[in-house]
Amino acid sequence: MTATVIDGKEFAARVRAKVAGHVTRLKDENGITPGLAVVLVGEDPASQVYVRSKGKMTVEVGMNSFEHKLEVNTSEEDLLALIEKLNNDPAVHGILCQLPLPKHLDEDLIINSISPAKDVDGFHISNVGLLGTGQKSMVPCTPLGCLMMLRDHHGSISGMNAVVIGRSNIVGKPMAQLLLNDSATVTIAHSRTKDLADVVRAADIVVAAVGRPEMVPGDWIKQGATVIDVGINRIDAPEKGEGKTRLVGDVDYASCVEVAGAITPVPGGVGPMTIACLLANTVTACCRANGLAEPE
Ligand code: NDP
Repeated sequence: MTATVIDGKEFAARVRAKVAGHVTRLKDENGITPGLAVVLVGEDPASQVYVRSKGKMTVEVGMNSFEHKLEVNTSEEDLLALIEKLNNDPAVHGILCQLPLPKHLDEDLIINSISPAKDVDGFHISNVGLLGTGQKSMVPCTPLGCLMMLRDHHGSISGMNAVVIGRSNIVGKPMAQLLLNDSATVTIAHSRTKDLADVVRAADIVVAAVGRPEMVPGDWIKQGATVIDVGINRIDAPEKGEGKTRLVGDVDYASCVEVAGAITPVPGGVGPMTIACLLANTVTACCRANGLAEPE
């Protein structure tokens, strides 16, 4: 039997529709329009695509989008000054600085200069600490999207064995923390993990956030396990024609779909959920800033 395919595109559309409803209410009942500022430094092509689609979807749900595109050689001082201005702007409820930043900029310093209340990416050390201690925080968008899909599919994940492959600050670690907060038994695997195949075989839930195309084969997956594929990798696709490429995840979809109980596809799985959660976080930040009840 093949796995249930978890449709992230459809799920994300539902989340965005809910966000749009909250935005309408904020405007009609409180006269407030949530605003998201996105800062892009340099011209990284993938980042440009992400920023464009974030801006488009922000406007589609009725929020204000403020895009700040800075030269690749922007100084740290100038970038910090812009963030300070956005921190103090009451029309801006969420601030996102698109990563990766050019090498001459100190990423940690920049992220930690964003007001934690406006840190809709959830990367500020205050938010990381709040999440780590199970307190109300801003939760990183990609892991939040994964958790929402898991909760939706399973109801409760309490007591399940979850393996997260990858320990980055933006995906792996917060993902593990969220799973733990939901009472899963969590293992974090990484490049030094021994016998990774056996570690993964013990999992009821596998979250792959590695950045290696199709690394996880179906024979690592326990029969019926749920597989969440965070990876976005562009590989050559000569079958589509010369010079053509296609997107694949970190799991080998063709073999995993045969053994898993449920699986997210790439594209159309985790990716769309990330932006939907960014919009949801912005509404949450707006409600908190104005002392209003937050959306569930
Ligand atoms: P990073 O490169 O920051 O982290 C990758 C992690 O994978 C590291 O912890 C690394 O271990 C681990 N790793 C690398 N090789 C192996 C291996 N052979 N076996 C086990 N673990 C390994 O990546 P990110 O977390 O930023 O992103 C991961 C993937 O998710 C990428 O494909 C990225 O494009 C995608 N992504 C998708 C998003 C979405 O919206 N869908 C958003 C963000 C990322 P170690 O720490 O030991 O080096």
